[in-house]
Amino acid sequence: DQSVCAPLPVLGRDVTVPLVTGGEVAYAALDYAASAPALQRVWDDVAAYAPYYGSVHRGAGYLSQLSTDLFENARRTVAEFLGCRAGDQVVFTRSTTDSLNLLARAIPADCRVFVFETEHHASLLPWRDAQVTYLDAPRTPEQAVAILERALADREPHGPALVCVTGASNVTGELWPVRELAAAAHAHGARIVLDAAQLAPHHPVSVTDLDVDWVAFSGHKLYAPFGSGVLAGRADWLRRAEPYLAGGGASRRVTRRTDGGVDVEWHDSAARHEAGSPNVIGAYSIASACKALTEAGFDTLVARERYLIRKVREGLAGVPEVKILSLFGDDAPRVGVISFVVEGWNSSHFAAALSAEYGIGVRDGLFCAHPLVRTLLGSDAQTQGECGAPEAAPGEKSLNAIRVSFGAGTPDEHVERFVTAVR
Ligand code: PMP
Repeated sequence: DQSVCAPLPVLGRDVTVPLVTGGEVAYAALDYAASAPALQRVWDDVAAYAPYYGSVHRGAGYLSQLSTDLFENARRTVAEFLGCRAGDQVVFTRSTTDSLNLLARAIPADCRVFVFETEHHASLLPWRDAQVTYLDAPRTPEQAVAILERALADREPHGPALVCVTGASNVTGELWPVRELAAAAHAHGARIVLDAAQLAPHHPVSVTDLDVDWVAFSGHKLYAPFGSGVLAGRADWLRRAEPYLAGGGASRRVTRRTDGGVDVEWHDSAARHEAGSPNVIGAYSIASACKALTEAGFDTLVARERYLIRKVREGLAGVPEVKILSLFGDDAPRVGVISFVVEGWNSSHFAAALSAEYGIGVRDGLFCAHPLVRTLLGSDAQTQGECGAPEAAPGEKSLNAIRVSFGAGTPDEHVERFVTAVR
């Protein structure tokens, strides 16, 4: 099993952290779902390019031209990574949150949006200015499709519609039936955007194979540094929309009118939504990560991750106080994201102990998916939010959870130490 592949080299592998019990230990980053450590290969690529970077698009100098080429090549690499169709646009953004907010501004004024209540807030909240139908949490993938189909069939009148759905949950790690949901959306004349923030780092994502209209993801979860993201997909709504930001780079021609005002012609390309000096290093590092993952091979990466998931689940199965959170059941296919509660423990204290006593970095809270976590915990209690969840009284249900998440850079020792610590 172990022979499936070695972990990919990532930054921070040799970082040691102090323990309250004295001494130091190698940091075990088990919070990939929040931000994955950058691949060493990505860092090396960025370091090799850094001395040469120059302003893009408008510079005549050699380094400006080099940067412009790298930026536009990065767009092509990402398009290839995502299996984009001819005519699709790849817009570089700051993050998944940014990408989905951009799309929310680009949808037609009379568009109805359908979103499951189980979504991460980045997918749940950007549509608040639109007419939104929030869908109840399904308990099986088939139920998810049925709930969506029913809602789409009920919609009146038959104007534009958009479904927004996650590919893999940032709480349970469970895979959603994206292909089936896309088919249901299209059968009812709706479009679909895939939140691939958690899916893209773990599985190949092809807009063509999945038949989704747009996909959004973040560089910092795909083993690239912070500050860059992608929205890729159909050009028509993006081209018709007001630019996400008004400014240089998005405008093709700006003229003063005789009445004193200003007329603007905006670009039709992705540049329309990329006003301001673009984050070239961000785009370049995403492209580098796409290449590194493709070269490593998703078959191999998925096999290794399955091995780690099994190790964690088998380890936790031996601890009766541990309850793993799941919407679709224990056997549902998932990525390396596992949330759980420990009976008799406050989740925040538990996570703090993993850090202070074992040098393990996990996350606790509601994971920016408050309605989902409350459903999973069976808790109607209003919490104070992400970081300030109150303690459950003895014998009461937990109000927040612990999340362990891992991926391409995780060595066996990290998950073994985690299981030992929990035990
Ligand atoms: N969607 C999902 C499923 C996520 O897990 C996250 C990040 N936790 C986001 C969207 C938002 O990503 P970002 O914070 O990079 O914008």
